Amino acid sequence: MLIEIFGIGCVNCERLMKYVQQAVDELGIEAQITKVEDFEMLIRRGITATPGLVIDGEIRSLGRVPSVEEIKEMIQGAGREESRKPASHPAPDAKAANPTCGCSSTGTMVYSCSGASNVGQIANEVAKSLSAKGMGKFSCLAGVGSHEGGFISSAKKANRIVCLDGCAVKCAHKTLAHAGIEPTVQVVITDLGIKKVHDRLDPTREEVEEVVRSVLSQL
Ligand code: SF4
Repeated sequence: MLIEIFGIGCVNCERLMKYVQQAVDELGIEAQITKVEDFEMLIRRGITATPGLVIDGEIRSLGRVPSVEEIKEMIQGAGREESRKPASHPAPDAKAANPTCGCSSTGTMVYSCSGASNVGQIANEVAKSLSAKGMGKFSCLAGVGSHEGGFISSAKKANRIVCLDGCAVKCAHKTLAHAGIEPTVQVVITDLGIKKVHDRLDPTREEVEEVVRSVLSQL
């Protein structure tokens, strides 16, 4: 049995990993438990909210941490379904369930207004965080604004564009629009209830994580 936990390494993903391990131990079964943090893989596998729990290729829960007892029932249910499958439909093995990307996709590009305010700097930190987690490539909004061909063609080849604006002025969105680029995901940080302040340029970790979660929920 292959059990996959999809997430971005937050506290809930870690808790789910622990609960799954406990469920497997209590059931006394053989199972391969893997963590998948690659953002493109999350999208390809239809994980719309994290943490996601997938057992033998089937999504069993999204966006929550089921209890150990619930996970045990999911595992047992997956086992029963497996035994009813015809021989011509074998369970996916680890390789099939975690395909390597053979496409020519340029993936997800992330643009931030990076403005001179708390919300502009939150946008910048969120772009850095998404990039560090392998969830998108942080690219230069100023490069797009300069109308240098390379920046614009890279953006236009991307599968997804995440646009992070600090406030309703939406400088990043407007800069992309001038270059004919439409974001797939648009986040305006003040719309999330964070007040714009000009003399505070150091975002808190909580603020950044809140916006990262908002981006994920829109993908
Ligand atoms: S969107 Fe708002 S915070 Fe960002 S650069 Fe423009 S005015 Fe500044």
